[in-house]
Amino acid sequence: MVDVERFCRQPTLTETLGRQGYVAAGKPVTMSDVDASLDGVEAVFLDLDGTIYLGGELIPGALDFLERCQTKGVRRYFLSNNSSRSVTQYHAKLAALGIPCTEDDILLSTHDLLAWLKDEGVTRTYAVATEGMCAMMEAVGISTRDEAPEYVVLGYDTQVTYEKLETASVHLHRGVPLVASHPDMVCPSPDGGLPDVGAYLALFEATTGVKPDHICGKPNPGMILHAVEALGLRPDQCAMVGDRLYTDIAMANRAGVVGVLVLSGEATREDVQALPADALQTPDVIVQSVDELLR
Ligand SMILES: [Mg+2]
Repeated sequence: MVDVERFCRQPTLTETLGRQGYVAAGKPVTMSDVDASLDGVEAVFLDLDGTIYLGGELIPGALDFLERCQTKGVRRYFLSNNSSRSVTQYHAKLAALGIPCTEDDILLSTHDLLAWLKDEGVTRTYAVATEGMCAMMEAVGISTRDEAPEYVVLGYDTQVTYEKLETASVHLHRGVPLVASHPDMVCPSPDGGLPDVGAYLALFEATTGVKPDHICGKPNPGMILHAVEALGLRPDQCAMVGDRLYTDIAMANRAGVVGVLVLSGEATREDVQALPADALQTPDVIVQSVDELLR
């Protein structure tokens, strides 16, 4: 397992604001006040794979849940660590599933990666990534096939070729550092997990001995705190809904938002019971699926 903790940014807003003890409408709010009704929550960040759909199929009740968000005036954002598609491609996929949204409603690990590369002043990379991800990088002036890259960038490359693995390995052998879009080991599918970025990282470490300088995406709290800030909300007025403890729920706790675990994807109730006391991955609310939320 990739050591996620090592590579995560420290929370900023969380440290400033703390996780509990806000006063909303004269009433102190703590995480324990929140249940599946999500009363008091004004924005939800929704994981996609395993939460809204699994593979190409909608989770039963997902569309009705999204309609309840609309009716109750709860803002909703779709969040994915999956960097294989561009935001435009995600928008088309959601539209095809009957989910109304705009491109601004979609937050990908690629966005977090672009912010990180910008902070680091990186403009030249060699990217092991799909055309969709490369297009998002190139749109903000970051090269993806540079012969003298400042970083090797690793995304969830579902169009991987041996040539890309070969070129990236040569750059890594030469001392070019590595950054990855997210840490997930596998991408869930109805037929079992498929190799994702974490598995590629293991491949590059086995080949070159190089570990990444940084891993973007969930569970980095920056992935949602930028949006929370832009909405003018406090973290405790927001919820993160997802099916993975080590990305979705760990990020919720880092960001200080309500962490809602759905059992429609990867994690099971037994996984939660096996967590040590006060684990960062402990959810505030557990439901079978989004079908139980906002009722
Ligand atoms: Mg998921």
